[in-house]
Amino acid sequence: MARIYAVANQKGGVGKTTTAVNLAACLAEAGEKSLVVDLDPQANATSGLGESANGSSSYDLLDGVPLSELAKPTRFANLSLVASKSALAGAVVELARRDDGDRYLAESLAEGTDAYEYVFLDCPPSLGPLTVNALTAADRVLVPVQAEYYALEGLAEIMRSIELVKTRLNSRLGVAGLLLTMVDSRTRLAQDVEREVRTHFGDLVFRTTVPRSVRLAEAPSHGLPAIAYDRRSPGADAYWKVAMELVERA
Ligand code: ADP
Ligand code: MG
Repeated sequence: MARIYAVANQKGGVGKTTTAVNLAACLAEAGEKSLVVDLDPQANATSGLGESANGSSSYDLLDGVPLSELAKPTRFANLSLVASKSALAGAVVELARRDDGDRYLAESLAEGTDAYEYVFLDCPPSLGPLTVNALTAADRVLVPVQAEYYALEGLAEIMRSIELVKTRLNSRLGVAGLLLTMVDSRTRLAQDVEREVRTHFGDLVFRTTVPRSVRLAEAPSHGLPAIAYDRRSPGADAYWKVAMELVERA
């Protein structure tokens, strides 16, 4: 049975896409069949894997087209993708209008995910219908947290949403963990934020933190996950360790 992870945080630019792409790439390289479902109309996970949506996309997944028809292999072994495109933005309006609009993705993913060990749902930067669909379809949610001053404020909101989805829509939803990203450990601020997040959330926080790394930021413009772009970079190394922690926790 696939383990389905929603990678979610309503803040933009905190490392959701980087985390989804790189964890999937690491697990794929370790021999685990992995799938990224790009649920952001900005399609950064799609371009970050060097792909584009020609024809079908995650939009069709919300329209009842089976996963097996939409998941395409990437040029990386064991790694498949359901691409996104900007038209997905229109789905937000449609989903909000339908009564059972929160469960579309869960229903689409009920069949077809068995072909994978790990599925990552890369969410857009909002707590709108696409993210609610992802949380409803997932077994676990992974929350990237950018190590910056306002990190904790946004966290209360996403944790509330997770609880709400758990009560109303998906009782099996659990928190896979909070992942500190873009950590510049030389700064006092990063140390303070890390300490504060660990004090609040304890063991829910991954032991590994992801450092701020130029190579991680460069990799998507080459359409490559960090392990393919520069496997010796600190960012690639960190995501390997996070992937291993994820396996350990699963
Ligand atoms: P989100 O999906 O939450 O909006 P992204 O994963 O797209 O965030 O990251 C936002 C930007 O920061 C991207 O340009 C990405 O390449 C860059 N980035 C992400 N993680 C790191 C990191 N650890 N170090 C440096 N740059 C990063
Ligand atoms: Mg993103």
